[in-house]
Amino acid sequence: MKVPLLDLKKQFEKIKDEIMTTIEDVCDSQYFILGPRVAELEEQIAQYCGCKYAVGVSSGTDAILISLMSEGIGVGDRVITTPYTFFATAGAIARLGAVPIFVDIEKQTYNMDANKLARTIQSLDSMERSKLKAIVPIHLYGQCADMEPIMTIAKEFHLTVIEDAAQAIGAEYQFQNGSIKRAGSIGQYGCFSFFPSKNLGAFGDGGIVTTNDKARYDQLKILRVHGSDPKYYHKSIGGNFRLDALQAAVVMLKLKYLDEWTENRRQNANEYRRLINEMEIDGMILPLDREKRHIYNQFVIYVKDKRGALQTYLKEHGVGTEIYYPVPLHLQECFNYLKYQMGDLPISEDAAKNTLALPIYPELEREQIAYVVDIMRKFFKVS
Ligand SMILES: *Cc1c(COP(=O)(O)O)cnc(C)c1O
Repeated sequence: MKVPLLDLKKQFEKIKDEIMTTIEDVCDSQYFILGPRVAELEEQIAQYCGCKYAVGVSSGTDAILISLMSEGIGVGDRVITTPYTFFATAGAIARLGAVPIFVDIEKQTYNMDANKLARTIQSLDSMERSKLKAIVPIHLYGQCADMEPIMTIAKEFHLTVIEDAAQAIGAEYQFQNGSIKRAGSIGQYGCFSFFPSKNLGAFGDGGIVTTNDKARYDQLKILRVHGSDPKYYHKSIGGNFRLDALQAAVVMLKLKYLDEWTENRRQNANEYRRLINEMEIDGMILPLDREKRHIYNQFVIYVKDKRGALQTYLKEHGVGTEIYYPVPLHLQECFNYLKYQMGDLPISEDAAKNTLALPIYPELEREQIAYVVDIMRKFFKVS
């Protein structure tokens, strides 16, 4: 049996007619950049995420970059994030000349450890603390970071919170008082990606920033078009961060199906848990589903010391997997100048060495999940 890590063709088959119609509409209009479709998508995403505003941008990476720019973050400023994430999170910080400060993650959620965040801020000298401007928590694999303590710390130190929600559209977080918020509506900015492998993927690159703040919304819209306001008059230096009408049209159409797809992903995760928990495998840890609504962009298991061998074995049996992320960002060559060493952020380093993502996409069949678990059973020689 073949079980790819992700099968976008299956999703496309089901909605092909609608998609082709919407693409044709855009072609007939010959209106390709920003415009009414992008504006409509912005309204829908803002509503979906429980935010007042959204600004469509060119990618998830640019969503993070433009949010940092909108806060005026630049040379010498410090921004805290985690090293166990896609490169874009820290790359956007460093591209502006700011200095990423890495905080380690929690063991089973792979998200920022709020206790370590507090300790890291306390350990900064007064110069560094005065330059500290923002925190970028990541809602990794589709589960919200522990936002309540993170927001408390941010408030105490007057820091902006930019949520990297690229993998978490529709994920929910519950506060102690019972209130529930969606990813991207908790900090000052929420950054989303429409990269095709995300839960809500475009037919190319795209992204969006959410915010509840009118002034920030206005600033984002200006920065998106080279900082011009009005056209050809530049008060600030922005970039070309525009979203295409074609991408907006495709994403808008897919948004109608997102909750159904998310529900399928959640059921797939439950099925993996049920079957895997029937076995006893030494050193294997399933991801913790702790927050209100995990949307399972990825289902990532921890397999102490056997990750590589398991991946090879699964591949030989037709099962696609992926290693997210083999090198934590503090040990990337391009960040040598930050002077981090192996051992500085042990939980991230351990996760980078021992985790493996299994297929979890919405169209996955029950028999395929059973097959994947069966191959794992054979690999671990358990019954
Ligand atoms: C995908 C992703 C990004 C970047 O999004 P692009 O649209 O690919 O630029 C940023 N952060 C995380 C955590 C991501 O998964």
